Amino acid sequence: MSVFDFKKGVVKLGERVWAYIQPDGAWGLSNAGLMVDQGKSLLIDTLYDVKLTKEMLVAMRKVAPEAETINYLINTHDNGDHWFGNEAAKAGEIIATKSCAEAMAGFTPETMAEIMKGASELGDVGAFFLNCFGKFSYDNITAALPTRTFEGRLELEVGSKKIELIEVGPCHTAGDLIVHIPHAETVFVADIMFVGGHQIMWAGPVANFSKTIDLILDLGPRYIVPGHGPVTDRQGALEIKMYWEYYAHEAKIRYDRGMESFAAAKDIPLGPYAEYGDPEKIVLNINVLYKEFSGDSSPVNPTEQFAYMSKW
Ligand SMILES: [Zn+2]
Repeated sequence: MSVFDFKKGVVKLGERVWAYIQPDGAWGLSNAGLMVDQGKSLLIDTLYDVKLTKEMLVAMRKVAPEAETINYLINTHDNGDHWFGNEAAKAGEIIATKSCAEAMAGFTPETMAEIMKGASELGDVGAFFLNCFGKFSYDNITAALPTRTFEGRLELEVGSKKIELIEVGPCHTAGDLIVHIPHAETVFVADIMFVGGHQIMWAGPVANFSKTIDLILDLGPRYIVPGHGPVTDRQGALEIKMYWEYYAHEAKIRYDRGMESFAAAKDIPLGPYAEYGDPEKIVLNINVLYKEFSGDSSPVNPTEQFAYMSKW
């Protein structure tokens, strides 16, 4: 469900508003956004490493010289593919939700560099890690953490334009936010939506995906920019709402029958999602759904989850 051609680079969405898209949207290949007005600029997320982020900034500055200085940098959530490149933006302010900022401080590029150094000795999970994340460079990155946090909603003025940050976590992660740019009829929804690939729930509960997608649709967007995959629209959002309804329903049936979680992930027919990328993410999602069904609200251990996913 793609509105524009799915190719790498800058896509114009409205008056001085762009998305930056990285095909194929698989592990680590995330999207970002830019808006400028009256000499002020706002960047939505950076990429997984400094090199990729610098390359993106060059492309953005070609269409918007105002982006030479980034006044505001918004981090939508704490996954590294949305903020490890922060250092390159040299932003005036870095804004995230309070809960996102705490998670960012707890897992920095240095943490990731350490894990990658040891990955080759970790057997299957290490090989899976290298396969997903080995193409990025985590060495010598200085973590640029949020300088301003909020809870709930935050309105920002960028030049003459007003935009709104809306906290929607816990959902994909504990501290997710989405960015609404009314004058471009655009919502940047980050990893609340993966377009063309399987979804990811690190936090949940799953009902928050439906709630958040309803909220996104209520904003009346013409364009929806996912965290991964091509720019989409209302139809694309509805498809993802149905995805979660399907997996939550199918997982519950198997949970009630006493089927083990990994077996359930394998047993649920891929149905309309057979063409989606990264199917191993189903293993994580079913694990998190099972946790939710059992009433366990403790956070998942990502390393443990990668070990399960590597067995797909
Ligand atoms: Zn992501």
